[in-house]
Amino acid sequence: MCACGPFGPYAFSGKSCSIGDNFMKILVISGFLGAGKTTFIKALAEKTDKKFVVMENEYGEVGIDGVFLASGTGQAEMKVWELTEGCICCTMKADFASSILTISNTLDPEYLVVEPTGLGKLGNILTNISQIQYERIVLLQPVTVLDVPAFDRDKEKYPEICRDQIENAATVIFTKTGALDAEELCRIASEVRAMNPQGEIVTDSCEKKEASWWNGLFERYLTKEGEENAKKREREMLQPDLENAGFTSIHLESGNQLVLFLQGVVSGVFGDIRRAKGYLPAGGAWLRFDVVDRNYSITGYEGGGDSRAVFIGRGIHRRELEEVLCPEEKNLMGKAEKMREVQMRPLLAGK
Ligand SMILES: [Zn+2]
Repeated sequence: MCACGPFGPYAFSGKSCSIGDNFMKILVISGFLGAGKTTFIKALAEKTDKKFVVMENEYGEVGIDGVFLASGTGQAEMKVWELTEGCICCTMKADFASSILTISNTLDPEYLVVEPTGLGKLGNILTNISQIQYERIVLLQPVTVLDVPAFDRDKEKYPEICRDQIENAATVIFTKTGALDAEELCRIASEVRAMNPQGEIVTDSCEKKEASWWNGLFERYLTKEGEENAKKREREMLQPDLENAGFTSIHLESGNQLVLFLQGVVSGVFGDIRRAKGYLPAGGAWLRFDVVDRNYSITGYEGGGDSRAVFIGRGIHRRELEEVLCPEEKNLMGKAEKMREVQMRPLLAGK
């Protein structure tokens, strides 16, 4: 987990961590009550090297999963967040969203495993998560754990939910297949295949799967967008020559000066800067900025704490950034000159 605060993974003052892990990746494990979701999540903890927080939604179910999960996984510090007042697919939609944001902002895990109630609709849960407008979360391809001996009964009793959980899963895990004969197993497998023509169906014990398969569950993004973001971050991580520069105790005279500064950043005045983030007082207000490639954005910021900024790229002109951003008396002259230069460059570049 990264400890760089609101800057996520970026490095500050020589403290370095990777660019790729600033998203909280959410893996939903659905399945009827008693299908073996909790056992599966325990196996996830044992078979992978991933550290994750679990969100348990238990409603009208015996609330012991949390205790069971936390014990004996080797992940002594596994955190379990329980929602027991309703169902995250429908009645608790709003609490579900705020819990996700709270977990992201406070615990900040790389992965969040969500275990819905047995009768939760997977499709609704995925929709509810995707509707959270927050740039720092991304959905992984969901898993459904299927109680195979109970399949006919569940399908008859809850046809809609049964179908929903199967057709929305990227991976369907068969459990409790020991007592079934091959013919029966084959019939159920083909019924499941008919409901979900694309997904992976694991009909034999997933306990036998290799670590790479288990780790793979944490690596496949559900949406194109998530996939593209991940690829982009991978590409960035593959560029070992990217440098970073961090500054604290910075300020500018006004919002207008911040605009001019960022125009300078994106037009290459301070080197080839690919990304930058920061927050600082500018005149009477605190502002937050973000730079991605040639674009920048400025938003309001509540303030508090020390101001800071980080720049990632190649050939970063550290000293010149420092002259503009750091308010030491000795830099005042250089700062004014630099601001003029920043002001001129975009104009010249536009010709
Ligand atoms: Zn529901």
